[in-house]
Amino acid sequence: MRCEVVAVGTELLLGQIVDTNSAYIGEQLALVGIDSYFQTKVGDNWGRIKECLELALSRSDAVIVCGGLGPTQDDITRDVIAEVMGVELRRDPELEARIRAMFGARGRFMPDNNLRQADVPEGAKVMDQMPGTAPGLICPVGDKVIYAVPGVPWEMREMITGSVIPDLKQRAGITGAIRSRVLRTWGQSESGLAEMLAGYHEDLERSGRCTLAFLASGVEGLKIRLTAKAATAEEAHAILDREVAVVADALGDLVFSLDDEPMEKVVLDLCESRGFSLAVAESMTGGLICERITSIPGSSRVFRGGIVSYASDVKSAVLGVPQGPVVSEDAAVAMARGVCELLKADVSVAVTGVAGPDEQEGQPVGTAWLATCVGGDAGAVQVRLPGDRERIRQFATISVLNLLRLRLAPRR
Ligand code: ATP
Ligand code: MG
Repeated sequence: MRCEVVAVGTELLLGQIVDTNSAYIGEQLALVGIDSYFQTKVGDNWGRIKECLELALSRSDAVIVCGGLGPTQDDITRDVIAEVMGVELRRDPELEARIRAMFGARGRFMPDNNLRQADVPEGAKVMDQMPGTAPGLICPVGDKVIYAVPGVPWEMREMITGSVIPDLKQRAGITGAIRSRVLRTWGQSESGLAEMLAGYHEDLERSGRCTLAFLASGVEGLKIRLTAKAATAEEAHAILDREVAVVADALGDLVFSLDDEPMEKVVLDLCESRGFSLAVAESMTGGLICERITSIPGSSRVFRGGIVSYASDVKSAVLGVPQGPVVSEDAAVAMARGVCELLKADVSVAVTGVAGPDEQEGQPVGTAWLATCVGGDAGAVQVRLPGDRERIRQFATISVLNLLRLRLAPRR
């Protein structure tokens, strides 16, 4: 079974949007073992979309088209598919009622154009998932098939996992379940991790129990994905539970999540489980730490607040930082302690450093002091962070959260 992907949208060609949909679809196809040899991008043009679909059908058994299912005149994917199928579009009364009801429920006026989304090529099946107003379509073409899904990423994803992949698996006669788990690590390079897991990796490859892949994720650290194939989803999960535990054991403190959670979520959970409230004092990160923490739902149960003390006199007046260099251990420790007292928090993190582009106090760009305070006991470490201003700020954010994680995590 071969399946290829066609992403429709002139914006994709102009570089106004990055085609993340094709990447996602490619990953999902690979996960179930369906071969995919081509991905095409094409503008909103009738003749060229048709050419792409016909070429794709000539060399693959299935084609997934994303984008161009919207209500406007330049959304022509469904019309072109009907022509490729050699059938007419027919208005689906059930879809029409659903689209009218969606507008009604939001109390919004519905432009007539929207009813174009209820037009379905004869012989096509409408997918069950319909998170927006654009229906996904399963369109048979002889013994092949075109799947049409919207361009909006979260609508597309729901239909790919809910309809397209199950339908493809059935056509390809693929049985069984494939499941993945992602462990997240911080503090070691890819080659370092690979070395630590070399023996285990070889053993896995020999036994075929599951597969292991490293995914470099920049300032989010390195992810390790374990993928298991079994007769049922329950069996696959059971295999993964065992293997995840082995990897976590081998890597110890380097692993911060066994389930693909971001660092800030892990830190919040640790604080909550220990009954600690959290405060933040930031300088070079300018609010990034607070932003990440508050992006987690439920952070209010733990997070007291933060101070962005950018100017030196604010550091001293608000947080009690002593006179002297502000890119220093003393300043970082005073910030961490000061913000705990000021905001009545049990634990805190604090960052002061040089984000660049210019050096400061004779310290090179990337120098940072990262401090943590737990129950009045404050300490700081100096780090040299790589990259440009933005990356330095991001690295400082996750690094200081990691330090607090290490102090709060029960020793393994
Ligand atoms: P809608 O019903 O919302 O009009 P549509 O099926 O017509 O959906 P498009 O108009 O092509 O889809 O795209 C809608 C939005 O989805 C785009 O503005 C873009 O943000 C996003 N999008 C579209 N295609 C892609 C893609 N290949 N990768 C990532 N994002 C995409
Ligand atoms: Mg559109």
